[in-house]
Amino acid sequence: MSNVAETDVLPLIDLRGTDDAALRAGLPRLQASTSTEHQSVVANILKMVREGGATAVTALTEQFDGVAVPSLRVPAGAMVEALEGLDADVRRGLEVAIERARTFAADHKPAPTTTTFGPGASVTMRWEPVRRVGLYVPGGLAVYPSSVVMNVVPAQEAGVGSIALVSPPAKDGSGLPHPTILAAAQLLGVDEVYAVGGAQAIGALAHGLDTDADAGLDTALEPVDLITGPGNVFVATAKALVKGEVGIDSEAGPTEIAIVADASADPKIVAADAISQAEHDPNAASVIITWDEALVDVFRSATWERAQHTKHSERVLTALSGPQSGIVLVDDHDAAIAAANHYAAEHLELLTEDPEADAQLITQAGAVFLGAYSPVSLGDYVAGSNHVLPTMGTARYASGLNVTTFLKAVQEIRYDRAALAEVAEHVVALSSAEDLPAHGEAVTARDL
Ligand code: NAD
Repeated sequence: MSNVAETDVLPLIDLRGTDDAALRAGLPRLQASTSTEHQSVVANILKMVREGGATAVTALTEQFDGVAVPSLRVPAGAMVEALEGLDADVRRGLEVAIERARTFAADHKPAPTTTTFGPGASVTMRWEPVRRVGLYVPGGLAVYPSSVVMNVVPAQEAGVGSIALVSPPAKDGSGLPHPTILAAAQLLGVDEVYAVGGAQAIGALAHGLDTDADAGLDTALEPVDLITGPGNVFVATAKALVKGEVGIDSEAGPTEIAIVADASADPKIVAADAISQAEHDPNAASVIITWDEALVDVFRSATWERAQHTKHSERVLTALSGPQSGIVLVDDHDAAIAAANHYAAEHLELLTEDPEADAQLITQAGAVFLGAYSPVSLGDYVAGSNHVLPTMGTARYASGLNVTTFLKAVQEIRYDRAALAEVAEHVVALSSAEDLPAHGEAVTARDL
């Protein structure tokens, strides 16, 4: 039995009577990836990986995962064996998840476009896949074969040719990631898999690793161009620190759910959904937003009651009583929508009288779940949408993983002599205004 009391769970954050700026500032938030403590731990791990290569990676794995891995690279035989041993129901679930994710991803592959400005003057935009990507699949507190699907499918649909997948070794003594993770990768035809997690995995993907037979790396790990995938605060912070050196998708850190709920919401469902995401991590955030004061105690007590009986009760209660979780009470419906937009949740549920109308008002969220029959856990597995989504308010500018994450737009400029002659004077005028006359001369040097 946990010693978290009912009154500790989902603390009330009363933002009634505040102006818009105070509403934004008062929302609960985990500041993990910007905390100096995490940054210095992670920066040190990245430095060790850069300097010590595969040997440092295996030592860090032993330190943080408590596992001595005989081989960083997962042998092909282990991948085949994992798929052969996969439970039939789990396999069917993965197949449905893959099928829907693929259909969704295929719909978003952008076609090239050509814009014509006149005879002989056009610009084309075409999309090219990132050459090599590194996909992170978490594996600390839970096992995430679903994250294999969510990472791999859009990368494959984008046409990425080279995929490396990393995931922490399981605690089962095998020195390998959990067999369902290996089975999911094998099902998708991904065979370059490494038993490494945390910040050290992100460092290995960003910097690459040289051959080191002692560390179980007979072939070098070639650095990647883009790293995607969800993870805990160490993973999210590491991705933020290597950004620039390589691309990243977004800071997909500890899970968040925000639920805008009114009197039409069933408290049992509000509680079940808040708990379902708190189950991920003691740092996970569950935030309920309402304008009905009478519902605060109703939602809290339904959540506390249900949390007593859930499998990961202790982890859930820690998350629900953390400073990142709470029940936000606002003045009215408009303020609830404003709070939801300011919070920019990874997952936003609308359990309101008219979720369709409310969804039209949402401009900032990783993914929006409308009504009682679209729970976040549907999106976690088989809705067809992607579950790798921006957290910590980064949905203000970042998007969930999708096929375009793995594509780059290349612009092609195609002008003939007459078309260049028509705009030459503008190039000369602008280049001289910028005191870069050689730019204009590069045009007038031509036979126009
Ligand atoms: P994880 O794989 O992200 O992290 C495990 C690794 O963390 C370990 O391998 C270890 O190397 C490292 N680590 C643990 N403690 C450490 C310490 N004290 N110092 C340095 N490194 C340490 O697995 P997890 O912990 O289960 O977390 C999974 C996370 O992914 C959860 O927070 C979950 O909410 C999140 N998630 C997010 C999304 C999203 O899209 N945002 C989707 C799914 C899951």
